[in-house]
Amino acid sequence: MKRIAVLSTGGTIASIPGNEGRAIAGALPGEELIARTELQGRMQVQVESVFQKASNAIGPVEWMILAEKCQQLIQAGDVDGIVITHGTDTMEDTAYYLHCVLDTSKVPVVITGSQRVPHAMGSDAYANLRQAMELAANDQAKGLGVLVSFNQSVFSAGFVRKVSSFQLNGFDSPGFGPLGMLDEGVFHLLQRPSMLGLLPIPDELPRVDILPAYGGADAAMAKAVLDSGPKAVVIEGLGRGQVPLAWLPALKIALSKGMVVGICSSTLHGATHESYEYPGALHEMVEAGAIAISHLSARKARIRLALSIATHGTSLSAIKADFDWKFTGI
Ligand code: ASP
Repeated sequence: MKRIAVLSTGGTIASIPGNEGRAIAGALPGEELIARTELQGRMQVQVESVFQKASNAIGPVEWMILAEKCQQLIQAGDVDGIVITHGTDTMEDTAYYLHCVLDTSKVPVVITGSQRVPHAMGSDAYANLRQAMELAANDQAKGLGVLVSFNQSVFSAGFVRKVSSFQLNGFDSPGFGPLGMLDEGVFHLLQRPSMLGLLPIPDELPRVDILPAYGGADAAMAKAVLDSGPKAVVIEGLGRGQVPLAWLPALKIALSKGMVVGICSSTLHGATHESYEYPGALHEMVEAGAIAISHLSARKARIRLALSIATHGTSLSAIKADFDWKFTGI
């Protein structure tokens, strides 16, 4: 029998009824959830309620605790798979942090949650948990990085995003699609994900903020963030990685003072590229010392940049290497 560890952290999947139809996310301990997956007798399951939180209360401290628990379970060698239950709102952040630091070649690590509370009619809570456990018990799920299992689809934590605030197909990897599907307990693995290298689990993460770019963005907002003391920022840039014209003076001052600035794209997929030559184009920012980041959402880029700085300090060449997909061409 496969041995599965379930680490519950809270979220809608672990909620109980509150007042006037609202839900108290995280109030249900993991042990009670497992009892209703009807997998007893088919798997040996150990459950730990690590947190009972809504996922807006989960961040670097909790990521580190989860990563260390997973690493201990993997190193001890007495589980075949790990499932983490989590609120959906920040599931992609926790999943991506773990994806950057955990070696899944021997033990699959799968994260799931639900859009509907467990006590709702037609809830996806037990179905999603059951499928995540089936996936974690499947040898085909090894070595794919951390996986998000949701609504019978399986996504790489490297590319997954929450795409609906309420529908059951709440997750997708825009432009890539799922790695596969779960159908009647069978994992149909249809594609393998490209992955960046693993990074160590640090004692703490430096503060890295996100600056979202948009038409007409004012200088004051960028300046307020840059002057407030982050170690680094990720600019969620326009298209190929352009930044608003009004931000240029403040950004150039921050770069000249040694702030690490990563620039990704706010589009749902596609690489950044130094395609243009005009003020605020990516090329100008890279010349000034910014790092162009491709194929990661701003939320993921921020986590990886924080991990990279925790590992290498502010050495730009080492940080750049952590974001190099190594697509070398012909
Ligand atoms: N607000 C909830 C949370 O992220 C949403 C969910 O779990 O689906 O904790």
